[in-house]
Amino acid sequence: MIRRIDHIGIAVRDLEAAVRAYSEGLGLSCDHRETVEDQKVRTAFLPVGESRVELLESLSPDGPIGKFVEKRGEGIHHICFEVADVRSALAACEKAGLALIDREPRPGAHGKLVAFVHPKSLNGVLIELSQERP
Ligand code: ZN
Repeated sequence: MIRRIDHIGIAVRDLEAAVRAYSEGLGLSCDHRETVEDQKVRTAFLPVGESRVELLESLSPDGPIGKFVEKRGEGIHHICFEVADVRSALAACEKAGLALIDREPRPGAHGKLVAFVHPKSLNGVLIELSQERP
């Protein structure tokens, strides 16, 4: 079902400072930036092999990333797995008794279709499932 780690999402307070640190410090380079209004975030993607780091800065204190940073500080927010089909992956998760955040896929960055599985079902890690749009 899972093909690879698509990206690791890291919540940051200051996107520009974070992009600088990850590029100047670690030698990664940003190849894509996107604002996802639905999630109230600005994102920057930095490829690492066949995966990416996704840096996320909240546009609003009441968005999911804003709340996360307020409560837990900066850090790893989620891991995203690429799947062939988000709907069937969600059905498999539900069948296995995992708590879903999304019952239906929604639009994510890069024009992909994404859905989240609740961290309480996966040892405290928020998992994003992502599918390339046909
Ligand atoms: Zn993500």
